[in-house]
Amino acid sequence: MTIHAYDPDLSAALNAELKRQREGLEMIPSENFVSESVLEALGSIATNKYAEGYNGRRYYGGCQFIDQIESLAIERAKQLFGAEHVNVQPLSGAPANIAAYSAILEKGDTVLGMDLSHGGHLTHGHPVTYIAGIYNFIRYKTSPDGTLDYDNLRAMALEHKPKLVLVGYSAYSREIDYARVKEIADEVGAYTMADIAHIAGLIAAGEMNNPVPLFDLVTTTTHKTLRGPRGGMIMCKEALAKAVDKAVFPGLQGGPHENVIAAKAIAFREALEPEFKEYARQIRVNAKTLEGEFRTRGYTLCFGGTDNHLLLMDVVASRGVSGKEAQIALDKAGITVNKNTIPDDARGPMDPSGIRFGTPAVTTRGMKEDDMKQIAAWMDDAITNAKDDARLEAIRLGVKALTDRYPLYQGLSY
Ligand SMILES: *Cc1c(COP(=O)(O)O)cnc(C)c1O
Repeated sequence: MTIHAYDPDLSAALNAELKRQREGLEMIPSENFVSESVLEALGSIATNKYAEGYNGRRYYGGCQFIDQIESLAIERAKQLFGAEHVNVQPLSGAPANIAAYSAILEKGDTVLGMDLSHGGHLTHGHPVTYIAGIYNFIRYKTSPDGTLDYDNLRAMALEHKPKLVLVGYSAYSREIDYARVKEIADEVGAYTMADIAHIAGLIAAGEMNNPVPLFDLVTTTTHKTLRGPRGGMIMCKEALAKAVDKAVFPGLQGGPHENVIAAKAIAFREALEPEFKEYARQIRVNAKTLEGEFRTRGYTLCFGGTDNHLLLMDVVASRGVSGKEAQIALDKAGITVNKNTIPDDARGPMDPSGIRFGTPAVTTRGMKEDDMKQIAAWMDDAITNAKDDARLEAIRLGVKALTDRYPLYQGLSY
């Protein structure tokens, strides 16, 4: 039975969400629109199968075809990133990170990771997380010009003797010098780990530096710029393969979600196509276009601009509205961003000084530089006139007209 025939309540909610996705400008940099093949794999019968264990050594019978599915995902990921070993079972980015830590660390070991307000992720040792009580996280920061402060990173590594040096961020917009980080880690005998959750698609396409050949461990989500299903993945050197596999299962998880792994296989195939390289290139061109438009309008951009798909903007300094106020105003205008702390934010995380936005999702819809210029003008208008509901509604109508020109999931309904 279809959802439509069986469950009118869920059908209504799904259709409302589909309409929201179609008619809004999705500027949250961690979001994207997957292909119809990825959706099909997610909804496939692979969801029915228990397959605890790994290819050729499962704890359940009947896994011969599941092994084929998982092999496709693994081989394609290896090809995409040049990885020696890949584990495609992590359920999402956060559990991938926890499994990666537990593969190499003992309780109480020291990890050097980036401060959350400077672009780091909660799972990199923020005090509110469970793992912050298990490992000893020390936090480094960016320098005032927005680059990673490698000299300070080295000084902190020499002082704290971490077992792991961690890079990779959620709200940071610049390139990372992985070779430099590896040099610092080698000097103190630490492991290296990069969490490329946000930029995996840009790395796969050759648009950004690839840490995989250099680093011991690389974790990622598969649903951000990589444009696959919601999920995680760990890549590592052959020497850590056994430890990583054990850490994911049985260390942290039970049965892998094989429908999601099938969808990862599709997404990786898509990312190997020439069209994906063009997509990734356009993501960066679009982000750079937004940067230029906002710079011209006098906005304060954190980290001095962008090398990737996202921008972090200080809206308090730029227009005297808080991150929360800006997010609400933009929401009313049909433009979805998220409020975000800026480096050493004087305000709290529930109403911070900044907003974070990016171009992966709008680029998937096919939008290019001219559309970015229009979007920047609307965003400026909405942020500057955050309390003017009539104005925000007028922008929303413009947004609707623009998004109508870039159809999404044509013919789909629930
Ligand atoms: C998004 C993200 C994660 C977490 O991924 P989930 O799938 O939400 O658990 C981890 N690390 C970084 C850097 C991220 O951006």
